[in-house]
Amino acid sequence: MEAFMTLINQAERIVVLTGAGMSTESGIPDFRSAGGIWTEDTSRMEAMSREYFERRPREFWPKFKQLFQMKMSGGYEPNAGHTYLADLEKRGKQVDIFTQNIDGLHKKAGSSSVYELHGSIQTAACPRCGARYGLSHLLKDEVPECTAEIGDHAVCGTVLKTDVVLFGDLVQHFETLYEKLDKADLLLVIGTSLEVAPARFVPEDAGRIPGLKQVIINLEPTYCDHLFDLVIHEKIGEFAKRISAAT
Ligand SMILES: [Zn+2]
Repeated sequence: MEAFMTLINQAERIVVLTGAGMSTESGIPDFRSAGGIWTEDTSRMEAMSREYFERRPREFWPKFKQLFQMKMSGGYEPNAGHTYLADLEKRGKQVDIFTQNIDGLHKKAGSSSVYELHGSIQTAACPRCGARYGLSHLLKDEVPECTAEIGDHAVCGTVLKTDVVLFGDLVQHFETLYEKLDKADLLLVIGTSLEVAPARFVPEDAGRIPGLKQVIINLEPTYCDHLFDLVIHEKIGEFAKRISAAT
């Protein structure tokens, strides 16, 4: 813990990479890890693909909502880990968060620079006219449609596309991640086993950036722990509480 605090105190520009383990203490299940819902049923994975959405948008939405417990998605709260990162920013540090999570909890905790690599469950857009919608609209009907007017009082009516990155979509913001890493003095990886590409290449690439220190906080050991300056096998919420109590 002392080593961790020293690295944090010395850092001015921190890049954070977070995964499912960041949110499990907020009650959100881990969709991708062993025992997660993807591994239980591969047909679910197929249904969450861009191709399936394009073929059957009306069948996509009920499955999507059920799988991501969408009705609940407004009800989750940030945990001590999210709050800790938001507090670092309040202490005057530049904290850029790149998250694999779609739950929006970093923003809810008050972090201002959040890049959602896999998109967000909170919003959707119309593939036809580009109109954008928030969570309340998405929850109103089983299959959310575009309600924008397109001349002569006609309504667009197109089925919306979620902002969640589907299988077959490209991961977002990866160029920005590398731009920020180049200028950072600390990379903090939290709650991800780094098995999903392209995140899995980050620690090795970051190791080539002069002066950049790397810390991982993850409950389980990962294949790349040896690439980090400091490895902490603990739940982020519990660790953040201990850190906050000690400062
Ligand atoms: Zn539209």
